[in-house]
Amino acid sequence: MAERTIRMLSLILVLLLAWQVLPVAAQADGTEAVLEGGEKLDWVCGVPFTDPGCRVPKGSTVSAEGEVCVWRPGYYTIRYRVTEQTGAEHMLYRRVHVIPAQLPETVPVPKAVYLTFDDGPSEFTANVLDTLAAYGAKATFFIVAKSVDTEEERALLRRIVREGHSLGIHCYEHVYERIYQNEEHFFQDLLRAQEVIYAATGQYATVTRFPGGSRTAGMMVSQLPGKYDELNRLMHGMGLRYYDWSIQPELGKSAYQTVYNFSHPKEPYSGDISLQHDTREFSVKAVDEMLAWGTAQGYVFLPIDTTTPEIHFR
Ligand SMILES: [Zn+2]
Repeated sequence: MAERTIRMLSLILVLLLAWQVLPVAAQADGTEAVLEGGEKLDWVCGVPFTDPGCRVPKGSTVSAEGEVCVWRPGYYTIRYRVTEQTGAEHMLYRRVHVIPAQLPETVPVPKAVYLTFDDGPSEFTANVLDTLAAYGAKATFFIVAKSVDTEEERALLRRIVREGHSLGIHCYEHVYERIYQNEEHFFQDLLRAQEVIYAATGQYATVTRFPGGSRTAGMMVSQLPGKYDELNRLMHGMGLRYYDWSIQPELGKSAYQTVYNFSHPKEPYSGDISLQHDTREFSVKAVDEMLAWGTAQGYVFLPIDTTTPEIHFR
């Protein structure tokens, strides 16, 4: 597909999701107007932007204009209009540099394990959340946004976020033929899923998992050599990370086998990412015993976030 179309889609994504009108906090105790955080500010890609505010003389008012697209690395300018009590006006400018997030290479704690649940939400998702809560464990849910239709399902997404889990994009519609038809379809699907997550939670997802994993995505979207790297670059450029998995305890298709697989690692886990589906009852049933075993072994169950090294199939 044409590079131009990708750029267009990327731009649409930026316009729909990322431009922010900026509320600014003014401290009215300065002798002159000064920007908190300085005139040059570095901001990490993907982190929601909050203006550090400014310090102004008593009785002044401040308004700010400008946009910072936290999904696209680059330079942005914010203009602040300060109106003093006397009616005198002056302008301040802040240059915000959105920098690509550093990709972490090491796990935050050595015994970190990341449980991930794909394809939900489903009738079993609340059950998974209850079990995780009982162990104080955190996980990641890569959702199929098309399944989020009712207020109840939207509330489930909010619960995932509220309870400290990570909410990631799997896709809008889990149909390989459609998503992977070409890059345009792929990004359209991703954008649609992001909109659903934002509408339900007021937050954007920063982590994703390709349906079928990146090998499937790589094969289906990017048959040409080098295209896979391009997809990777585009995802990172949008502030999105994608995660495959290193263990798959569900193989065997029973709760017993799932627990067994998980509790018999070939070598101790360290930053391993486990793939399960919260749409599969047997897999959900296994979570309690998996956590009981893991906790007893001293493993720490973390949500995938910006501190999580990416695991990619290649
Ligand atoms: Zn899936």
